[in-house]
Order: sequence, then C-alpha cells, then structure tokens
Amino acid sequence: MSRENIKMRLLRRFCPSRYSATVFDIDYTELRDQGRTNLLFDLDNTLVARDSNQVSSELKELFERLLDEGFKIVIVSNNWGERVSNFGKEAGVPVLGRAVKPLKRAFRLAMDLIGSNKDNSVAIGDQLFTDIYGANQFGLMTILVSPVSSIDLLHTKMLRHVERGILDRLTKLGFLQNWQGG
Ligand SMILES: [Mg+2]
Repeated sequence: MSRENIKMRLLRRFCPSRYSATVFDIDYTELRDQGRTNLLFDLDNTLVARDSNQVSSELKELFERLLDEGFKIVIVSNNWGERVSNFGKEAGVPVLGRAVKPLKRAFRLAMDLIGSNKDNSVAIGDQLFTDIYGANQFGLMTILVSPVSSIDLLHTKMLRHVERGILDRLTKLGFLQNWQGG
C-alpha cells in the first residue's frame, strides 16, 4: 500500500459520519428513519460548557421531545464526580462517567445501559480523538458538533489545532460535508 493510501486510511478513522453545528441542529428525523434511535451524547462542550453544570431549558426540552418520540439517550463522559451524575439526574437520562473514551469499552458499556447496539446507535461529541475516533473504531455512526465553549483543558486546547487540520483535510478530500471550521 502506498504512503498516500495509508495516510488516507488513517484520516478516515477520524472522519465523522456527519457534522452539525450543535446538538439542536442534528436531523433526528433522519436518524429515526434509519432506525438509529439510541443516542450516546458526550457531555463537556457537547451538551454544556466545561465550566457549567446547568442543564439549559432548551436542552431539557430537546431531551423530553426525543424521549417522547421513542429515542433512548445516554451521556458518555470521560469526566466523573457529582457534577456529571447530577447533570444526568437533572436531564433525566443515564450517565456513564469515567468512560475512558476512545476505548471501545466506553461505548459498549454506554450501549449496555440503554440496551442498544452499534447498528441502532449514534455517538455524538465535540472531539475527534475521543468521541469520533473511538466510536468509529467500534463501527458506530458518529456526529461531530462544534464545542459549546472555548473553555477546554490545556491538552484538549492543544489537540484542537490538530483536529482543525484533520477536519480541513477531510473536507478538502470530500469526506466531510458542511463543516464550517471550528
Ligand atoms: Mg467533549
């Protein structure tokens, strides 16, 4: 295999199936039509800013609507502690904390919590190296969202530059549509 092919294969591992600006812009009807009614949401900077523990009324409404429509929801976070578990309680959905994404185990345990499998689930998150890469390795459909806020841990901040480079490349290659730059 040529070097170029190896590079492409590596890049594809980081390619989300879709990009949406926020969790409110995701086409949930399309997901339901595809039978993907189990949603694995990342927490920090996907559902809420890293420094916040507020479940917004907008998010509560979204979750209520989705649960009413028959979706199942689980929050999968590498973070842990009371803030994480309280967020789940307040949002009315189960939480897997200390998930250790990108390990496959994180996604498997989360799917076990809502009784789903990789063919009827979708992983949604803001980070290529944990949320998207991990779920792709597992064979899950993936949706990348833009981070809710620019507040990140230092190592995440550094990775953001690398992520942007990968996303630019994936967009140029035509693998990723409608990414607007992060
Ligand atoms: Mg995140």
